[in-house]
Amino acid sequence: MNTLKNLFLIYNKIPDSLQNTIKSFIPNSVKDSLFKKYKLTIADNSNCFNLPLEQIRIEVSSLCNLRCKHCASGSQYEAQNRELMSIATFENIVKQLNEINSVQSAIMYLGGEPLLNKNLPYFITELYKLETMKQIHFNTNGMLLNDEISRRLLKTNIDLICVSIDGTSAYESEQIRIGSNYESIRNNIYNFIKISNGNKTKLKIANTQIANNEEALLRNKPEIPLFLKKDFGEEIIIESNFAMK
Ligand code: SF4
Repeated sequence: MNTLKNLFLIYNKIPDSLQNTIKSFIPNSVKDSLFKKYKLTIADNSNCFNLPLEQIRIEVSSLCNLRCKHCASGSQYEAQNRELMSIATFENIVKQLNEINSVQSAIMYLGGEPLLNKNLPYFITELYKLETMKQIHFNTNGMLLNDEISRRLLKTNIDLICVSIDGTSAYESEQIRIGSNYESIRNNIYNFIKISNGNKTKLKIANTQIANNEEALLRNKPEIPLFLKKDFGEEIIIESNFAMK
C-alpha cells in the first residue's frame, strides 16, 4: 500500500498534460477504481500533514448560459438541479472561513457561469474582508461581461478575471462553446479594458486548443492563435493550453 501511495504522490506532482497521457494507457476497466483510491490517498495525505486550508473554490452559480461540448455543465446540463448561490449560503461560508482563518485565495468558479449570479460583486467584496485573503479570481465565458457588471466588478478590485475563448479561430470557439458569440465577447473585453483605466484588476484570456495527438500534448504549450493576437495584441494576457480530443 505504501508503494501505491508513493506512486500516487509522485503522480500528483507531475504536470496535468503528463497525467492525462498516463491515464490514457490505463484500461477503462481499472481506471475508475484506481483513481477513486488516488483521490482518497491524496486526501489522507493532506490530513496526515494537517495542512491549513489556503485555497477554496466557491460555486456561485451552477446555471450556465452556454452549452460547451467539453464541459459537464454544458453537455449534461439537465442531469442535475442547478441554482444560484444565495446570500444566506454565502454568508454561512464566510462565517466558517473566518473561523478557519487561513484561506489566502478564492476561485469563484466551479463550472457554471459566475456572472449569472448578480450578487457576485458583493461576495467578492466580503471575501476580501477576510484577514488572510490575498487573491481572488474567477472564470467566465465573457458573454455577460456587460458595462454594468464590469463597473461593479472593477469596484471590488478583484485581482483577476479569466475569459475563456477556445480553439484557433472565432468560428472554432463558437463551435466548441455552444451559444457563445465571439464578437460580443470581444466587445465586452474591449469595453472592460476601456473602463478599467489603471484599476488593479487584470483580465486574462484562457485559450484551450484541441491536441490531435499525444505528441502535441507532451509539448508544453500551443502557440497563441492569430485571431487572439490580432484582436488583443499586448493589451491583455493570453494563455493557451492543450486539451486532448
Ligand atoms: S461556459 Fe463554462 S461552465 Fe458553461 S458550459 Fe461552457 S465551460 Fe461549462
